[in-house]
Amino acid sequence: HAAKKTGEPYRHWSPVLDERDGENARLGAELQAALHAGQFRVHYQPIVAVPEGRVVAVEALVRWQHPQRGLIEPARFIPVAEQTGLIVDLGAWVLRAACEQMVRWRAQHGADAPDRMSVNVSARQLARPQFPDAVAAILTTTGLPPTCLTVEVTETAVFGGGHAVAALHRLRALGVRIALDDFGTGHSSLGLLHTVPVDVLKVDKSFVDRVTEAGRHAVIAKALIQVSDGLGLSAVAEGVETAEQADALYALGYRLLQGYYYGRPAPSPDLLTLHPTVRV
Ligand code: C2E
Ligand code: MG
Ligand code: MG
Ligand code: MG
Repeated sequence: HAAKKTGEPYRHWSPVLDERDGENARLGAELQAALHAGQFRVHYQPIVAVPEGRVVAVEALVRWQHPQRGLIEPARFIPVAEQTGLIVDLGAWVLRAACEQMVRWRAQHGADAPDRMSVNVSARQLARPQFPDAVAAILTTTGLPPTCLTVEVTETAVFGGGHAVAALHRLRALGVRIALDDFGTGHSSLGLLHTVPVDVLKVDKSFVDRVTEAGRHAVIAKALIQVSDGLGLSAVAEGVETAEQADALYALGYRLLQGYYYGRPAPSPDLLTLHPTVRV
């Protein structure tokens, strides 16, 4: 950016960006009010073990149930919640709601309940020194065993500074699992896998989308499952939409799949019935 070199931030005079800043400020205030008004919801998407088809985990995904505009997807509000810092309170709310739901499912379904609840954590949450204590407090008050919780973080959040890496070690020490989300996108480095505690690689949908084509994406998907197996991690393939993708992933060695083919995020997903698995 030429404007950056002058030292004068472009955003101070651009009418377009001013407008966007104004919109973001308004949205930020609305989000705060929405949290107080109880307008957020958590939907859950199954993570399925193949070939048997058991739902071994669910991922918690937040939505905003707006009184006029209907159900709003996280891509529309998470970035602003991160900018304003509301993500700290919103994230804590999601974590508590998800842990409470998991405790209910364990009470209802016993051994048939999923083994784990997976919750997304943003850079801003992870960087705070209080984060591991906040997680520990939620586990204690909800009564969810720490081994039933996975936190999903991105590589960007891990490198986001603050207390991020220390937080991962503390969470790990509690018994919480760490998943690297959207793995293979962003500025990923395999070096990350031996510098931070990681239990699960979530291989990004972009590789899954083209895993059935004999091209680079399939080669990378294959390399990632080999790295994962070699390091003793679990790998989850994200965004599986078709039987063909499921079959191709299974053939490469993937045993944990997540995507619309198995179930969309829902307020009360089907946890017990058999799902289509793979054609072994
Ligand atoms: P993510 O954590 O990578 O979650 C996966 C996203 O892919 C979800 O979108 C999910 O609905 C979508 N997805 C799953 N399977 C398929 C598929 O087969 N096809 C397609 N096209 N999409 C699929 P969603 O729920 O809109 O969430 C988007 C992102 O927002 C999440 O990506 C995550 O980064 C963020 N997010 C969601 N909930 C939270 C939260 O509670 N806290 C934070 N910090 N971030 C959240
Ligand atoms: Mg995720
Ligand atoms: Mg993901
Ligand atoms: Mg993603």
